[in-house]
Amino acid sequence: MTSHFEKVTEISLKRAIIYPDAEMHGQMSGFFDYGSVGSEIKRRWENAWREHFLSLNQNFHEIQTTIVMPEQVFKASGHLEHFHDPVAVCSKCGVSERADHLLEEFLGEKFEGLTVQELNALMKKHKIVCTKCKAPFKEIEDKSLMFPLQVGASEDKTIGYLRPETAQGPYASFKREFRANRQKLPLGLAIIGKAFRNEISPRQFVFRTREFTQAELQVFFDPKELPEVPFHEVKDYELIVLPVGAKDAKKVKCSKAVKELGMSEFFVYFMAKMQQFIESMGLPGKFRFAQLSDEEKAFYNKYHWDLEVFCPSFGKFVEVAGFHYRTDHDLGGHAAVSKENLNIPGKDYVPHVLELSFGVDRNVFAVLDNAFREESDRTYFALPQAVAPWDAGVYPLVNRESMPEKALEVFKALRESGIKAFYDASGTIGKRYARADEVGVPFGITIDGDTLKDGTVTVRHRDSKEQERVSAAQLPERLCELAATPQGKL
Ligand SMILES: [Zn+2]
Repeated sequence: MTSHFEKVTEISLKRAIIYPDAEMHGQMSGFFDYGSVGSEIKRRWENAWREHFLSLNQNFHEIQTTIVMPEQVFKASGHLEHFHDPVAVCSKCGVSERADHLLEEFLGEKFEGLTVQELNALMKKHKIVCTKCKAPFKEIEDKSLMFPLQVGASEDKTIGYLRPETAQGPYASFKREFRANRQKLPLGLAIIGKAFRNEISPRQFVFRTREFTQAELQVFFDPKELPEVPFHEVKDYELIVLPVGAKDAKKVKCSKAVKELGMSEFFVYFMAKMQQFIESMGLPGKFRFAQLSDEEKAFYNKYHWDLEVFCPSFGKFVEVAGFHYRTDHDLGGHAAVSKENLNIPGKDYVPHVLELSFGVDRNVFAVLDNAFREESDRTYFALPQAVAPWDAGVYPLVNRESMPEKALEVFKALRESGIKAFYDASGTIGKRYARADEVGVPFGITIDGDTLKDGTVTVRHRDSKEQERVSAAQLPERLCELAATPQGKL
């Protein structure tokens, strides 16, 4: 029997959503391309993210910083010293695996954050052997996840690195942006862009890759004067949380979360905004904020919650975003290494950082995975319109009697009203509907004999397959009305 994962990835490959990079030359594992359909879905996800998070405060802005950054940045951030994973290499066949993941697979527990010594002891105790050839593993060693890069051709080669997260861009740009934005806090700096990690064993399709896209917002604030937030907007909204030690996730109203989770309104507000965004992506109720224990979280994070979504393909909750209160770790580190003064004017401390971090590829996949539907005669993605690759397909019923001309007119009018439509005249009408359903297009517009007589067209709804007649002149208006996306527009 074909699994949910196989079905989703098969459509993904066949319909140019996501596929392995440079397949014809033999893919390097951990690199994926977005195809003609996938690029549209990803772009719309990113635009929805922009719209949602940048509108939370007048002083939140998007910036675009470089992917290659100098060595000093990663001295300041601690990546050169700390950013590595424990690797287990098979003594016979040479296959390499992440030791903590290997143990997790064998023992069904989480082992993230253990030292090399602890992992070595566990490997021996449980007699973990290579899954491929059954030989024992060599001693576990830490391996850097950074991609170094030689910059320029001069003798004294400059070393740069591909950024392992977008976050370092805002930290390195903080001083200039703070000045340019009238030295006001909170200041939010967002980046949607590529990041790179030399993962030891990439896996789970786009969930653990070596090149990936992040959407991250860094909020800089004064920890002694927490910024005001419109908390009334979320006070009755329920967060779904799984605190450390709890067995099951529970719902907590934001107004109660302040006390129960021991976090100020400022932090709870941003958790709610993250959850509302995930919810708007067609995942109602299929997520939770999982709190990390002290062993699991980075030492500098005061609060660390993973936002996890249930993916049918993996049969479990997987991390798609993170809520991190990083204290003064970042600006403190950059100030120390650069000798720049990054203190808040008139204060003797640097701003603190709240990071809202999203893995774009993981989110796109989680949305597709949860939107996948199978019926006896078709499969389709019940995508929310905000991330559907197109809003509507426009089809002449047959290729004669001036139907194509009329259909092209309708198509043009839709595009001019800002509705993202495509035109398709090949194959039977049933096949055209099926093709569009398969990639999640919410509406099909058909131009038939009646259109030529009375100027009406058929609007077919993807999920219900129901049809309605609408006058062509009122079509853009009707589609906008139907859209009712979380953002309230097409
Ligand atoms: Zn082996």
